[in-house]
Amino acid sequence: MTLEDNGHFTESEAGVWFYQMIEKKIFLTNTRTHKKEEFRTLTPGEVKMYSCGPTVYGEIHIGNLRAGLTADLFYRLFKRFGYKVNYVRNYTDIDDKIIKRAKEEGVDMGVITRKYIEAAERNYALAKMEEPTKKTLVTEHLPEIIAMIEAILKNGKGYVTTEGDVYFAIDSFPKYGALSGKTLEDLKAGARVEVSEVKKNVADFALWKRAKPGEPSWESPWGAGRPGWHIECSAMACKWLGPKMDLHHGGEDLVFPHHENEIAQSEAATGVAPYVGTWVHNAFLTFSSEKMSKSLGNIVNAIDFLSQYGGEVARMAFLSVHYRSPFDFSPETVDSAITGLDRIYESKLSAEKLMTQKMVHVDPVAEALWGSFFIDCDRTRNSILEHYANDLNTSGALSELFALIREWNRILSTGNARNTPAAILAAREFIKVLEEEIGSVIGVGRMGAETMLAHLGSLRALRSKNEGKEVLSGEDVERHLAERKAARANRDFKRSDEIRDFLLSKGVEIKDSPAGTTWTRR
Ligand code: AMP
Ligand code: ZN
Repeated sequence: MTLEDNGHFTESEAGVWFYQMIEKKIFLTNTRTHKKEEFRTLTPGEVKMYSCGPTVYGEIHIGNLRAGLTADLFYRLFKRFGYKVNYVRNYTDIDDKIIKRAKEEGVDMGVITRKYIEAAERNYALAKMEEPTKKTLVTEHLPEIIAMIEAILKNGKGYVTTEGDVYFAIDSFPKYGALSGKTLEDLKAGARVEVSEVKKNVADFALWKRAKPGEPSWESPWGAGRPGWHIECSAMACKWLGPKMDLHHGGEDLVFPHHENEIAQSEAATGVAPYVGTWVHNAFLTFSSEKMSKSLGNIVNAIDFLSQYGGEVARMAFLSVHYRSPFDFSPETVDSAITGLDRIYESKLSAEKLMTQKMVHVDPVAEALWGSFFIDCDRTRNSILEHYANDLNTSGALSELFALIREWNRILSTGNARNTPAAILAAREFIKVLEEEIGSVIGVGRMGAETMLAHLGSLRALRSKNEGKEVLSGEDVERHLAERKAARANRDFKRSDEIRDFLLSKGVEIKDSPAGTTWTRR
């Protein structure tokens, strides 16, 4: 089965909303200040953003996927709010771990990095992450890296050791530690003693490392060697975004030392501050280890999860949790993502079906109900955007959608509401809210409902097999409901109640109304 967007919604349709959006203020928690601040850009209407991507020596794991999805979330947020976004993401393709792996496999470093860049790209496409404006490789930026180190040395913020290594002198940069809140004293206490002999301050960090025998190296004014890890992001960001940017993202492990060092290097080289307006960091993904290994097959590599579950389940699971809260990847989180998507697509299917049916009559009561639903749609749109603007509160946005879905189901089960002209307009509006507001930023809800429900059905079967419990598919539920209808027609209420209780035991709740019986998953 292919899982592709079904084309219900086009960007130009969404464009109708964009003109209103640029005025809307966004508030984000800045790691540097620990405060929620109004997000301001250097150039009105434009965002320059950078995200630290993976080191490509193996398959990306689901923790990396969380980081990738968080960056994608910011990218989509800014685009949805009408900004032109220049988004740069890197691949770290020079690193000790890559060199080690290449040695083990007896191949060139490039063989390893190309393989795992392709692998990462497959993950990102499956996870429906949107293409950054620019993807960069360290190996393609050696001249920029060397030029930046030269500028740091020229400005007196670094030094070359007798052995040909180049270090950043943190004593020359009084702001050092401002992002992470570390003091020079903390850093000295934490540094390892044995490396301190060549450094002026034990906490100084490498900008350029002299080549060791048998290792890949590049020529430089300080002899053959390779860049230290941190300088790559400073140099690539400076090349593609300039000396200042609006937003910089990474996982929380990067606050110190990587991002602290990026600030020091960039500001020391360019003399321009602040390097970054807003720093954002996602919290870590953790595992519910024991249980996890049994029921999800101990999925660690993102590809294993994405190829089995698909991008929408991943997005729903990961983005139901705020990006700054720890996310425990467990069978329960995956189950509730599947259930959430089920609810979304079951209501979407009912709206799609309704749009193709013949209108029977105009009913004043029904028209009034749908009229109020239109107002709900409008309010939901605004509330979803408010949640996004409030530090990307994705779970708040989703709960607004679920409230609208409840209202949709309520009206559908009321009297003759489905067969009226207003119902068709309401169905269209309902789908638009889903696709334009949830689809654009959270990135779920734009698939064809029938395709997605079939996929979710097979996932439920897989999950229940893993858990050793039965979960009913939509078709199963319909079959039980048909049997119950027949029982009721025969006035066999005992059998009818048995079927209701059986469905309830499988997590399916049914509701009878004059218009028929509807069901939802709990
Ligand atoms: P790395 O390949 O280790 O440089 O990581 C690439 C990105 O993934 C960085 O932004 C890391 O901060 C982030 N990252 C690594 N592990 C996790 C995790 N378990 N949870 C969330 N983000 C992570
Ligand atoms: Zn980086």
